[in-house]
Amino acid sequence: MDGIVLDRIKSLLAGRLADLAARLRAALARIETGDFGYCTECGEAIAAARLEFDPALALCIACARYGDGPVRR
Ligand SMILES: [Zn+2]
Repeated sequence: MDGIVLDRIKSLLAGRLADLAARLRAALARIETGDFGYCTECGEAIAAARLEFDPALALCIACARYGDGPVRR
């Protein structure tokens, strides 16, 4: 692969890493405040199976469907 493509890929990877780190930090913060497991949009409990799939999820299934998705919180 040429250097320009690799630079672009490095930039994409760095962006993903920053997004993931931010989501994980936010989930840890929600544990500290006692808000973990509850949707940040509507306040409903997030299904345990969803949290086992991705513990960083901030939205219940209904809000994830109609909102802009958990990744962009
Ligand atoms: Zn919700």
